[in-house]
Amino acid sequence: MTAKVKIKALVAGNWKMNGLKASSKEVKTLAKLIAKASKKAKCDVLVCPPATLIPALKDAAKGSKIAIGGQDCHANVSGAHTGDISAEMLKDAGATYVIVGHSERRADHGETSEAVCAKALAAHRAGLIAIVCVGETETQRDAGETLSVIAAQLAASLPKGITAKNTIVAYEPVWAIGTGRTPTADDVAKVHAAIRAALKKRFKAEGEAMRLLYGGSVKASNAVELMGVANVNGALVGGASLKAADFDGIIAAYR
Ligand code: PEP
Repeated sequence: MTAKVKIKALVAGNWKMNGLKASSKEVKTLAKLIAKASKKAKCDVLVCPPATLIPALKDAAKGSKIAIGGQDCHANVSGAHTGDISAEMLKDAGATYVIVGHSERRADHGETSEAVCAKALAAHRAGLIAIVCVGETETQRDAGETLSVIAAQLAASLPKGITAKNTIVAYEPVWAIGTGRTPTADDVAKVHAAIRAALKKRFKAEGEAMRLLYGGSVKASNAVELMGVANVNGALVGGASLKAADFDGIIAAYR
C-alpha cells in the first residue's frame, strides 16, 4: 500500500486586466494585507497581477511569502510577436509562476490546448511553474460532457514529462467564472477525482503529488467547503483576489 501524498495547498489570485501603476499605493496596501493574511496560513500564496505591475508587486511583497506570477506567456523566447510577452520576460520581471490556458484566453484568443501545451513548455524552459487551466462550458456541462471535455483538455494541454514541482492543474468550470455560481462540492469532487486519476495514469507519482486547484467564484463564504473537497489543493481566485479582506477570507480556509 502506498502512503498518501501530502500536498501543500496554494491560494492564487488572478487580477486579470485590473490595476494601474497610479494605484501603486493601493497595490502596496493590498500586498501588505495579503502578506499579513498569508503569514499564519498553511498554504502558499500567489498573486498574478497584469505584467505591468509585476515589478511593483514583487517589491511590495519583499520579505513576505507571497509569490508573483504572470497571467499568460508566448511559446517563444523572443521575436516578432507584437503585444506578446515571453515566459523569460515574466521571469525577468520577478515572476515564478504563470497561468496558461485560462478560459478567457481560450475564448478571447482562440487558444487551443496544443497552444496551451506549448506555453506550458515555455514556462518550464524559463524556470516558471505553469498553472494549466481546464474547464467545461455550460453547454458542455448540460450535455453531460464535463469529464470527457476535461480529459481531452488535459491530454492535449499537458506536456510530456511534467512534474509536481513544475506544473499545477486548475479546474475552472467556465460557467462558474465571475458568475457567483459554483458546482456542488460533490461535482467538484467527481471532476477532481477524474483529474487525479488521469494525472496518476500518465505521470505516475508526479501526477499523484501534483496540485489541483479549483477556480470559479471562490469566496470567503464558500472557501472552507470547496477547499475541503478531496483532491482540491487550493484555489485560483479572480474577483475576490482584488480585495484584501475577501482574499484574506479565502486564505483563512488554511489557517
Ligand atoms: C478566474 O478567472 O480564474 C476566476 C476563478 O474568476 P472568479 O474567481 O472571479 O470566478
